[in-house]
Amino acid sequence: MTHGPPMSSVDLAHNISSTREKIKAVCREYNRSDDVLLIAVSKTRSADECRNAYTCGQTHFGENYLQEALDKISALSDLNIIWHFIGPIQKNKTRPIAENFSWVHSVDREIIAQRLSQQRPTHLPALKLCIQINIDDEDSKSGIAPEQLPDFAEKIHALPNIELAGLMAIPRAQTDFDSQYNTFNQLRLLLNSLKPELNHCNTLSMGMSNDYTAAIAAGSTIVRIGTAIFGPRRYPKE
Ligand SMILES: *Cc1c(COP(=O)(O)O)cnc(C)c1O
Repeated sequence: MTHGPPMSSVDLAHNISSTREKIKAVCREYNRSDDVLLIAVSKTRSADECRNAYTCGQTHFGENYLQEALDKISALSDLNIIWHFIGPIQKNKTRPIAENFSWVHSVDREIIAQRLSQQRPTHLPALKLCIQINIDDEDSKSGIAPEQLPDFAEKIHALPNIELAGLMAIPRAQTDFDSQYNTFNQLRLLLNSLKPELNHCNTLSMGMSNDYTAAIAAGSTIVRIGTAIFGPRRYPKE
């Protein structure tokens, strides 16, 4: 994997603090408490850039590609980073995910959840999972259909060593606030529709660089932001 142009630590510090400020301002505007967690999505970014971001106070990082993530996790093992896996999961790759991450946001198959549950080392805290919802019913996107959620959530809730935290979605790219808001609001309503025994599942992992304002307005508790922090990505193979 080649990397995009590295971001200077000065630019990185600026981007992280302005993103933080913006999140705070949006929370104030929509009467939200400031409890929105910022994940820096570091796919295609080097371990050094992550280290610089950590020096700026960023502790949560999100990764999509397992091997790339494992290289960074090992290069940065001296830091107290909390790693989130946010990409598609292959069945034969669940063990390193269960062993090296604190969160997985992209669970959409029962077999994956079962394996993560079996493979999570018992000396570690429960692995936190979000169920990915294909909120716009797009063929190109992962995620379960909204109507599958009640059954799926109960099955996952029953598994040991993992904790069902909530829902995640990657909506279709839309540029106007109202359309973005409406889609995110559907995810919020879906989470609220879960049975009372799942009341503690209150994570809404939604909002990226181009739509996090609308996501926070609609109730997001975790935003996953790459470009606005690290600059544009370059994909060599995609
Ligand atoms: C890449 C990615 C992000 C970050 O996207 P940006 O538009 O760069 O902020 C967030 N979530 C997921 C699942 C991603 O794959």
